[in-house]
Amino acid sequence: MTDALVLGGGLAGSGAAILLARAGRSVSLIERETGPHHNVCGEFLSIEARDHLEALGMDPVALGGSPIDRVELASGPRLVEAPLPFTALGLSRFRLDEALLERAAGAGVDIRRGIRVNAIEGERIRTSAGDVEGDTVLLATGKHRIRGERDEADGGEDPFVGFKMHFRLSPQARSALAGTIRLILFDGGYAGLQPVEDDRANLCLVIRKVRLGELGGSWDAVLSMLCALPYCGEWLRDAEPLMARPAAISNLPYGRMARPAADERMFLLGDRAGMTASLTGDGMALALRSAFVASRCVLQGGDVRDYTASYLQEVQGQIRRAMMLQHWQEYRLLRLGGVALLSACPAIVTRLARATRLRRWA
Ligand SMILES: Cc1cc2nc3c(=O)[nH]c(=O)nc-3n(C[C@H](O)[C@H](O)[C@H](O)COP(=O)(O)OP(=O)(O)OC[C@H]3O[C@@H](n4cnc5c(N)ncnc54)[C@H](O)[C@@H]3O)c2cc1C
Repeated sequence: MTDALVLGGGLAGSGAAILLARAGRSVSLIERETGPHHNVCGEFLSIEARDHLEALGMDPVALGGSPIDRVELASGPRLVEAPLPFTALGLSRFRLDEALLERAAGAGVDIRRGIRVNAIEGERIRTSAGDVEGDTVLLATGKHRIRGERDEADGGEDPFVGFKMHFRLSPQARSALAGTIRLILFDGGYAGLQPVEDDRANLCLVIRKVRLGELGGSWDAVLSMLCALPYCGEWLRDAEPLMARPAAISNLPYGRMARPAADERMFLLGDRAGMTASLTGDGMALALRSAFVASRCVLQGGDVRDYTASYLQEVQGQIRRAMMLQHWQEYRLLRLGGVALLSACPAIVTRLARATRLRRWA
């Protein structure tokens, strides 16, 4: 039997697999996708996420990451601009996740692709290729629960739905967006537009399910709504979509945090352990942090309860602050008033960006 069985080959799963394999453990990783794939994500790599990737031996700049050191906040007729308190990178998940899996394979991890975890029934893990087992099991399958798994929360009565699309912008829009993440706040949701590698721009957004229904329920309707907004429409109207269809995800369980349960036998990693609001662009850092905390705990002989408690201690402050910001932007008057205030004092935007970071990993 393998020492560690990792379910899911996103950031959390690959990160943990690399760390455990490097420490001499035998590790198998199961990933449902057969090759590189798009994941709904703003693809904003914060400074903490960059730190973690570098500690895993990755070089996100060499992978083509596009530097981002400015944030713009657009709401209605206003646009606020401010420097970020760090340099982030825009790098697609298509490229990043694949590079991490390659690094895991290089570290000796047995990667099994094209296998789906179908159900977790007590000790039994049922996959599309039969039952699997490991001395230690780390569940890193992302936002949605696997059949049979205990869960703490779902996305509520009117959950957010997420979309992502890559575009080729016009040369003027591309040069205006260089080095910048533009956040566009609108009724029922928000979008982020930023450069990623190879002169592509990533548009990623979340929108409440009810609002999506009011718009007609389709990606085209969402795009038309965005094209009518100031500080967004003029760039998107003549942009060329670079994906056949957007990546999409429903029922986002924002704010979920795992509870340290005494009888839990699986290490829950990444979004399975806690999901922060996307507005602050730090979910990847949290996912990678879970890989570091879990692998340290496994290597020191700790149990799931120890791990969950120390992971939550690391991340719960960030999740709470990010959720507060996400709630604030949902109330129209608060949002418009807040952005008016921020335009009078853009330094607050920089402070907010700093205040919503995960503590750096020591
Ligand atoms: C709209 C949106 C925008 C975001 N923007 C940002 C951002 O700009 N910056 C940032 O830092 N974070 C952002 N995030 C958060 C970030 O994307 C996640 O926190 C991060 O991807 C979590 O990593 P993970 O490894 O837990 O899960 P994932 O990255 O989702 O990886 C899970 C892996 O498991 C595999 N898998 C799933 N189910 C199964 C199964 N049944 N069997 C086998 N394999 C399976 C999947 O194929 C995938 O490879 C955003 C999230 C959303 C929803």
